[in-house]
Amino acid sequence: MSEFCYLCGKPMGDSRASGDHVVPVALIARNQPKARGFDYAGKLPTHEECNNRFGPETYMVNALELLEFLAGNNGHSTYQHRTRPEILIQAWDASKLPNFTERVLSFFKLIDVRESDAAAWSEPEFFRDKSRTNPTRDALHVALSVLTKSAAALLIKRKIHTVPPTWQVYAIPYSGATDALDFDHLLGDTKPFEAGVKVWLHQLDGGPDWLVLYRAKSVLVYLIFVFGHHNALATLKEHFPEADIHEFVGTAINDLLTVGWHKV
Ligand SMILES: [Zn+2]
Repeated sequence: MSEFCYLCGKPMGDSRASGDHVVPVALIARNQPKARGFDYAGKLPTHEECNNRFGPETYMVNALELLEFLAGNNGHSTYQHRTRPEILIQAWDASKLPNFTERVLSFFKLIDVRESDAAAWSEPEFFRDKSRTNPTRDALHVALSVLTKSAAALLIKRKIHTVPPTWQVYAIPYSGATDALDFDHLLGDTKPFEAGVKVWLHQLDGGPDWLVLYRAKSVLVYLIFVFGHHNALATLKEHFPEADIHEFVGTAINDLLTVGWHKV
């Protein structure tokens, strides 16, 4: 197992190895590794370049903060523009998101109007060159890619012990999760990796496919990793008729950065 990079699937060769944390550092407040009462998953080998390329991890903490903020009732409201009702404006209290630097604001396409005159941004012209954004969707997508990468790493490290040649993953992401959402009674006692971070790995029908439930703070993702010919999509649609189901198909986890997800 150790001679392959789990992000690109290629042999490690002579390139400098860089260990990637199976559970992202962004989710762990304490210093890894071990601590009483918590699970620890260690690292998996990756090429240094592959490890550094995985950009969404940079924004994971912000994505979680953003989702938690929007799931609450405090500090955000949505308005229709007075004269142009097709323009929807969401106003946020920036003091609730102290870690949102200029770089983070621009990543989520947020517009900082703290220094601007209210008269200026009240005009429809102000919005003409601004792109429409959906911060909840964008933050969920960041979380989805980071948690899928981590779920894949956990499966490789603990269950399948090999880097698969192809990936097919179905995902249903939710925001607004809490510790009350626990699956120990269904899937067995599971130790958290950190307060609010729990992952359940469950082999489906003793076959090659895996269900992974990944709860990270306010985000919960249902993931099905398909390695056999199991008709996972039909099963998912039957169990979650209302949900948005996302699919990722790639030859390597790195394809999450290029191919990404599409709705099915
Ligand atoms: Zn690699």
